[in-house]
Amino acid sequence: MHCPFCRHPDSRVVDSRTADDGSSIRRRRQCPSCGRRFTTLETASLSVVKRSGVTEPFSRDKIVSGVRKACQGRPVSEDDLALLAQKVEETLRQQGSAEIDAYEIGLAILGPLRELDEVAYLRFASVYQAFDSLEDFESAITSLRAEHAERAQAKQDRGQDPTDGSGPAE
Ligand SMILES: [Zn+2]
Repeated sequence: MHCPFCRHPDSRVVDSRTADDGSSIRRRRQCPSCGRRFTTLETASLSVVKRSGVTEPFSRDKIVSGVRKACQGRPVSEDDLALLAQKVEETLRQQGSAEIDAYEIGLAILGPLRELDEVAYLRFASVYQAFDSLEDFESAITSLRAEHAERAQAKQDRGQDPTDGSGPAE
């Protein structure tokens, strides 16, 4: 890594620090020629292979802008979108492959989006999975309903929930 100030072709690492989430390493470097210091950030590369075969670097911003459309008019904040994009990136990195299919990204978005907002999820899924009939919507909604029922059941199985107001009164 050459020095950004004097272009000296070598530099010395004086400090390395791993980011809290382990996704990157920040190195403080010093140029042995001019003595100035600079920082480099090292992350594992993650590329997306588009349907056309073109490869481009993974971008959280693209996830956010793709999902934002589906969230129009929904109670979803920019922070929610940023967190969702972070989850998607974590999921993809956990798969351990440096190149991912654009299709995989859509799949990785569906899970966290469903937890965030079900209407936005249905909108996104209808485009991504190319719903072309009412039946497609119906089956997606049926599976959401089934999940609600499962969650309610799990809540019952856990016994009294102090937050639901039906506590141990009487
Ligand atoms: Zn230098």
